[in-house]
Amino acid sequence: MLLGKETIPKSLAGAPAAHAAFVEALRDAGFQGEIADDAATRITFATDNSIYQVLPPVVLFPRDGADIHRIVEVSVREAFAGIALTARGGGTGTNGQSLATTIVVDTSRHMNRILDVDPASGRVTVEPGVVLAQLNQRLAADGLFFPPMISTATRATLGGMIGTDACGKGSRRYGRTHDYVESLEVSLASGEALTLQSLDANAIERGVAAGDPAAQLAHELRAAVAPYRDLVTQTFPDMPRSLTGYNLRDAFDDDGSVHLQRLFTGAEGTLGLIRQATLRVIPKPTARRLAVIGYTTFEAALADARALLTTEPSAIETIDDRILALAQQDPGWHRVRHVIEGAPQARVINLVEYEEASESEVATRINGLDAALESSGRAVSDYRVDDATVAAELWAIRARSVGLLARQPGARKPIPFIEDTVVPPDQLPEYIAELRALLDGYGIEYGMFGHVDVGCLHVRPALDMTDAADAALIREITDKVVVLLKRHRGLLWGEHGKGFRGEYTRDFFGETLYSLLTTVKRRFDPHNRMNPGKIVAPDGDPMRIDRIDAVPLRGEHDRQIDPAQRDRWSKAIDCNGNGVCFDWDARQAICPSYKITRDRIHSPKGRAGLVREWLRQGAADANETAVAATCTPRRRRAAVPTDFSHAVYDAMQGCLACKACATQCPVHVDIPDQRSRFLEVYHRRYRRPLRDRLAGALEHLAPVAAELAPLVNAWLASRPGRALTHRLGFADLPAFYRDHGLRRARRAGVRVLDGTSAACLPGEVRQRVVFITPDAFTTYFDPSVLPALCRLLEALALTPVILSYKPSGKALHVHGFRRAFAKLAQAHAWRLEAIAASRRPIVGIDPSTALMYGDEYPRSVAGDIWSRPQLLSTWLATLSLPQRRSALSQRQFRLILHCTERTANPAAADEWREIFERVGLSLDVVETGCCGMAGIYGHQSEHLAHSRGLYDMAWRDAVEAVPAQNLLATGYSCRSQIARQSDRRAAHPVEVLAAHLSANDEHENTKGVARDPEIISTART
Ligand SMILES: Cc1cc2nc3c(=O)[nH]c(=O)nc-3n(C[C@H](O)[C@H](O)[C@H](O)COP(=O)(O)OP(=O)(O)OC[C@H]3O[C@@H](n4cnc5c(N)ncnc54)[C@H](O)[C@@H]3O)c2cc1C
Ligand code: SF4
Ligand code: SF4
Repeated sequence: MLLGKETIPKSLAGAPAAHAAFVEALRDAGFQGEIADDAATRITFATDNSIYQVLPPVVLFPRDGADIHRIVEVSVREAFAGIALTARGGGTGTNGQSLATTIVVDTSRHMNRILDVDPASGRVTVEPGVVLAQLNQRLAADGLFFPPMISTATRATLGGMIGTDACGKGSRRYGRTHDYVESLEVSLASGEALTLQSLDANAIERGVAAGDPAAQLAHELRAAVAPYRDLVTQTFPDMPRSLTGYNLRDAFDDDGSVHLQRLFTGAEGTLGLIRQATLRVIPKPTARRLAVIGYTTFEAALADARALLTTEPSAIETIDDRILALAQQDPGWHRVRHVIEGAPQARVINLVEYEEASESEVATRINGLDAALESSGRAVSDYRVDDATVAAELWAIRARSVGLLARQPGARKPIPFIEDTVVPPDQLPEYIAELRALLDGYGIEYGMFGHVDVGCLHVRPALDMTDAADAALIREITDKVVVLLKRHRGLLWGEHGKGFRGEYTRDFFGETLYSLLTTVKRRFDPHNRMNPGKIVAPDGDPMRIDRIDAVPLRGEHDRQIDPAQRDRWSKAIDCNGNGVCFDWDARQAICPSYKITRDRIHSPKGRAGLVREWLRQGAADANETAVAATCTPRRRRAAVPTDFSHAVYDAMQGCLACKACATQCPVHVDIPDQRSRFLEVYHRRYRRPLRDRLAGALEHLAPVAAELAPLVNAWLASRPGRALTHRLGFADLPAFYRDHGLRRARRAGVRVLDGTSAACLPGEVRQRVVFITPDAFTTYFDPSVLPALCRLLEALALTPVILSYKPSGKALHVHGFRRAFAKLAQAHAWRLEAIAASRRPIVGIDPSTALMYGDEYPRSVAGDIWSRPQLLSTWLATLSLPQRRSALSQRQFRLILHCTERTANPAAADEWREIFERVGLSLDVVETGCCGMAGIYGHQSEHLAHSRGLYDMAWRDAVEAVPAQNLLATGYSCRSQIARQSDRRAAHPVEVLAAHLSANDEHENTKGVARDPEIISTART
């Protein structure tokens, strides 16, 4: 199927009518999954990590294998002859593997169950939507693992890996996915459900006689391939790299056996749909050691691979200077900087890893490494990593290389199209030298990294795909690289599969084998209904294969956005679809709304894609002034139901504003920032809910509500109060304290001053002053924390001074009241500047508020504002702290970090651990995902179930595994969620530190569960 350059519709209505009947028939057939043809879903599934954007008409989300088979069965009915299907897993393809104008079948949402693990036989059975890291985490309990280790392990699915015959780090030793596929349950375009597995000659013979369709298939294909066995062996390169497009070399043995499952592995969904897979898994190596070898040039690192290979490492991976420079902004950099910065002369590194069954075997390899390095003499540094965390972080940086490159400033961004070329390793230095010369000839920048041990290097030239001249280079450069590769006996698709690069198949395999591939396709899918346009067509017509420059490019869509808007919304524009934000692991901060919904619309990538489409439609339809003229802010959304803005609004409403995507996403997509901007524009057109106004005003109302706390709390708890709360859209609201933090601190003699008087403190006081910026949440809802911090400072012989309370504007920003926020931020910023003149520290308590001063404030205020409160852990870690013994020294405290703190300050866990250790306390820090509260999110009625679901997913076990009095949490939201969901009160770490270092042996809050039971009862739902 040729995609052609269809005109991109101005507005995206539902699916084309042709598909409506199919969808209806599917429902009638008992399809249990979801069917989506709305604009938001279609846009979200129109992209992957590639340069393409292809709009599917409908996306299906089957619940199980039976649902997949229903889809195929209905599609073979005569009435649906025009219906084609494309499977999709994690959608991390780099060349449009799962992009199509056909119906898309997504397995990632529901089909992610590990069905069986049998350690004795080393077999597992999975649904195709299981994520690689999910499987490996489950297998670790039995000391096993699934070896093909790809960089997208956190979100790529087994179905997708089988689709591309994926492999990665360690492939020299462990091979590719097809080496581990034992059998596949598949549905073919004919409507047949088959089990594909290895059949020896006898089994084939018996099966044919018994009329078994799989044996018949094996028999026919073996006969078709037999005459060309020699040609296949000569033509298919003998490299441990991918070879998508029907693995003729490994599917047929000389003894007549046929491995049909290997033909399917690498078929990119063009032969049928996988419903279930049984895989071979192997014991995890028990001994492992990583060496980081430094070089002054990339060429030296490549050339050294030959010497390093003689030591039999499990992997050698090269990272160039550009990526190492970008990695310095990576969240994990602080853990590895000593390795890289310890050898400043090394600009490029080889990561060399040894994995063996015993330490002594690893030691033997390492001895060999010493000798190899000495004889080659190219390395300028050699660091042996002893700490497994550091080794894991170095590998994580390597895995994030693609994302890091995307952070490169400027309109030209590194893009995939020749990103996974492979040549025999002995050809690599010469090939890379010629490739560099080619790219340098175009004046194009690029970063390089990858699997030097197997000759597969990742190269992403930087192009501006919104510039037609740059986009035209895709064809020109690819053609030249293909010539270069053929000269070096290499392949264009070394690792990531072909996708829309199928037109080059003939160049590499020649006419005869091309026609043999066609035979395979014809036998499985004679009417070209499985991912058509990829690999080969059943009739062999090369014109039916999509050409790299005939498929709609994402850049063409983005080009329609006004350049000024592109600049203004650059974070959404820069999302390159690498999918880090689909991380399946509940312990990772990114992205709670995706984890709990499994709906890609509710991910940073989904939201960024919708913003891009919204901008494109806005640019095409009308500018803001025109919109303002036809709409008033009193308008309800029902008045203009077709406005695409509503789809963006709905996607943004699910965001918890946890800000994990502002740091964990490799391009720092920062959805809360985009959301705030979007809401401002949206509510210029459509009326704001009263709930948003109340939330925005909360920080302003808090002091007054606290004064009237008994009244306000009683009313909130009353029947009419609860009814109104619910009508406004709140599930519940926390109780206020009349005896709030500021009042308690004042009572204890702490100064509370405004900015001017604080700056004029007498000299002798000023020398020991520490300024505290009180936030609304800790002050008015959790009143013991602020006084505890003051006690702690006094115990350290410092003088706490609390700045008079001012709303921070956090809620205003979240809800898009940007003008009001900017005004507030400006006033705060001036006050902080004045106070900073005293050169004394300023600290904030609640991490999510304190971090705002360094993030949202500088973007909203005029001039360069440098003064901002420090996070408590960062500041406390700089002090010299006294060792002390108290009753608390016996306890093992457990701290759970606020997810915003954890992601914005990756050193936070180490800082708190160190602080506790230095004062003589034991602390174990749990770094997990979002607690599900996230400010106002958990209080909103429509989010209540998701809020609880997130808590169950990532927090409940960690919280309830320790005695309540040992439980600590840095975030106010987290503490209130713990109270609500687990009925216990967690203390802030400063409460424990204050109790430990001040005269009291026990701080009041560690004696029992909740000291303020009214908070728990009011907040409980
Ligand atoms: C940053 C980055 C790094 C990468 N690193 C590596 C790497 O180290 N090694 C590597 O091999 N790849 C790598 N890739 C490419 C990509 O991650 C792999 O190709 C991966 O196997 C795709 O898995 P997925 O679940 O995202 O599948 P998708 O991209 O969704 O699909 C891949 C193919 O499989 C087919 N498919 C999916 N499910 C089924 C099914 N149920 N039945 C039939 N066909 C199906 C699809 O139709 C499609 O053709 C990388 C990509 C990125 C963005
Ligand atoms: S939002 Fe970030 S992490 Fe997610 S796909 Fe886009 S660039 Fe990748
Ligand atoms: S802020 Fe959090 S919830 Fe929102 S998109 Fe980013 S990671 Fe997801």
